[in-house]
Amino acid sequence: MEKFTKPMDISLKCECDVVVVGGGPAGFCAAAAAARNGARTVLVEQNGYCGGMATGALVGPFMTSYNKSGTRMIVRGMFEEVINRLVEQGGAIHPKYCRAGGPEAGYHFRGHDHCAPFDPEILKRVIDEMLTEAGVKILYHTSFVEPVTEQNCMKGIIVSSKNGMESIWAKVVVDASGDADVAYRAGVPCMIGDGKKGTMQPATMFFRIGNVDSDRLNAEIEANKDRIDLYIDGVRHGAFHWKIQEAKKNGDFSIDRWVVGLYRGVKKDEWSVNISRIGNVNGTDSESLSQAEVIGRQQVEEIFRFLKKYIPGCEDAVLLASGSTIGIRETRHIKGEAVFCAEDVLEGRIPDDVILLTSSSIDVHGTVGGAGTKYLTIENGEWYGVPFRCLVPLNIEQLLVAGRSISATSEGAGAVRVMPPCMEMGHAAGVAAAMAVKEQCLVRNVNIKKLQAQLVEEGSFLG
Ligand SMILES: Cc1cc2nc3c(=O)[nH]c(=O)nc-3n(C[C@H](O)[C@H](O)[C@H](O)COP(=O)(O)OP(=O)(O)OC[C@H]3O[C@@H](n4cnc5c(N)ncnc54)[C@H](O)[C@@H]3O)c2cc1C
Repeated sequence: MEKFTKPMDISLKCECDVVVVGGGPAGFCAAAAAARNGARTVLVEQNGYCGGMATGALVGPFMTSYNKSGTRMIVRGMFEEVINRLVEQGGAIHPKYCRAGGPEAGYHFRGHDHCAPFDPEILKRVIDEMLTEAGVKILYHTSFVEPVTEQNCMKGIIVSSKNGMESIWAKVVVDASGDADVAYRAGVPCMIGDGKKGTMQPATMFFRIGNVDSDRLNAEIEANKDRIDLYIDGVRHGAFHWKIQEAKKNGDFSIDRWVVGLYRGVKKDEWSVNISRIGNVNGTDSESLSQAEVIGRQQVEEIFRFLKKYIPGCEDAVLLASGSTIGIRETRHIKGEAVFCAEDVLEGRIPDDVILLTSSSIDVHGTVGGAGTKYLTIENGEWYGVPFRCLVPLNIEQLLVAGRSISATSEGAGAVRVMPPCMEMGHAAGVAAAMAVKEQCLVRNVNIKKLQAQLVEEGSFLG
């Protein structure tokens, strides 16, 4: 598919080696990695800050970066660098201190060992520092509009900003938009959600609260610890479900969930609230997203009132902030050279072209009615690997896709969509893009052994 065959009509913003679209967990790591490896790199981000869901939607904590038995950190490289920088600035608790079943894990056990709370404000600054130090040209307030292609090869992108429409010429493009916006518009086959019914995971408006008496909250959990992992009609009834039941009876809780998702923050009295749930949101459609924002803020109001009235320790809580954007778990999955699927997770498969190892569980919300979640943990071994081929789309050259929209089934993506693996996908995409530029080869053909060696050199763990 040819787009903008006469891009000269649009004024030139700049020329570079690598342009990254989207500054979420995958995108900022891709940009920093490409620049550190010698590529002249531009990062295009529609917001005025990086971090994607981690900052804009207030999503947290960082899900596990450890092996299945919780004995060693395996998602390392760029993720570990981010954690260490955050910890140094008082902006995170290192995952080694956060154990399954604890407040940082939202009192979850399975798959939630070594989650790491972080402060989204400090994360914004840490990312700015990493990008600036690496020499990335940052274009905030700039949205990707269309790809520029020639004979099925990416030549650059068209962006829109206060300056109007401009073009950016690049030798390699990394699509880290989360929605595969670039790939989709460049003609890469994509699947929405589960591909069959087009069903996507529900959206959530995260918010943060402060001034919580955390000792009282923990004591309530301690007193009810035998009740927090019940399954009723296939739906997990987690922390404080007994309070939801009481509130539902009183007409004080209308949301289709049976768990009060409270995750302790870096400061003891601050908590992230993951309770809101909005079905049938199409994150690739601005009208649907707009409705979700409105409903999300209504839900925040209802949930906040519920917390203050029903949850011990939350009586004097204050609302610190709700997400400045709705949390979107899933939209498009590209079709790439390989498709990552549930069996890869459950059987602990490690492909030859592995770019990261993780033990993240399959976590697909809204599968049993609105309230249920399909949650499956790795069955075989301590970890599984994500192949480089899942970042390489069909039908177009010089494009990589990193983050939650890589080539995967809905279940496969449901495992690797969490932030630590997304950061390492970005890391690999950035190194591969820079290698392709340096060696003047197609990015699809980069030498995998060299890519893996460079990732290991930069602190990644590949077994
Ligand atoms: C409700 C919810 C709960 C979650 N819980 C957790 C959790 O507890 N722990 C965990 O680790 N993960 C969690 N996740 C998953 C995780 O947050 C995301 O999957 C992850 O952030 C994906 O990273 P990404 O870089 O692929 O995309 P995103 O974080 O979505 O970032 C994409 C970036 O691209 C930018 N962008 C998009 N389109 C354009 C465009 N056209 N032009 C310019 N910029 C663009 C966006 O502004 C954004 O900055 C959760 C997600 C949600 C929604």
